[in-house]
Amino acid sequence: MTDHLTEPGGKVRLYIAAALAKDARVAPDEGQAHYLLHVMRAKAGERVSLFNGHDGEWLARIDDVTKRGCALVCEKRTEKQREVPDLWLVFAPVKKTPADYLTQKATELGVSALQPVATRRTIVTRVNAERMRANAIEAAEQSGRLSVPEIREFIALEKLLAHWPRERRIVFCDEAGDAPPIAEALADAPSGPWAVLTGPEGGFDPAERAAIRALPSVVPVSLGGRILRADTAALAALAVWQAVKGDWR
Ligand code: SAH
Repeated sequence: MTDHLTEPGGKVRLYIAAALAKDARVAPDEGQAHYLLHVMRAKAGERVSLFNGHDGEWLARIDDVTKRGCALVCEKRTEKQREVPDLWLVFAPVKKTPADYLTQKATELGVSALQPVATRRTIVTRVNAERMRANAIEAAEQSGRLSVPEIREFIALEKLLAHWPRERRIVFCDEAGDAPPIAEALADAPSGPWAVLTGPEGGFDPAERAAIRALPSVVPVSLGGRILRADTAALAALAVWQAVKGDWR
């Protein structure tokens, strides 16, 4: 079974919501069908890889090609389901860089969920969850993930923290300067569910910062002496977490 359809970046992988099992026939959505048939010029009999977040990765044969769509027939499971570490990114969206970029990069870095939050100094009032989800799917397909991170609803940080699950620890990216360096702070920290928390372009308000620091599950950290843009800070913290506590070990 060869003829795997490939693009310059590697083999073609598609996220499909439907169940995947031997001989299951699934349909790509309109955008995926367009990409397969008109961009990649796929032919019946060629193969692509599929994943849905539960059933591992499957090799599927392209069948029933028409102008508008095709069927994908699962032939063989090529990988068992793998999970990413249980790491959320809780971030205050910023005006200058739409959440799309951060969503792509955080997905590549292996987050399990993205949670946009409104802090006191957050300027952005709306987040396009649908676009975030599309970006997450594309990054999952491209990076070899077997799952797409959950995109959580944009809510006030205060509200989120009021119901925060105690067992989920928070890497609080605190630019104020008196927090220990991140790698040091994480070295002795327990494993289990975690989240990285970053602020907006104006940073956290002092009262808000004190309230976050007072939570029992919070680990305040410094990312060094330079002030990073919010998205740089988020991606840097995720990378260090993966290296020290996550699946880069
Ligand atoms: N208050 C800053 C800008 C905030 S940067 C100002 O002086 O304008 C945006 C967010 O990135 C911060 O809220 C923080 O979560 C994170 N961040 C940026 N640089 C950081 C650093 N050196 N250490 C820890 N967190 C940092």
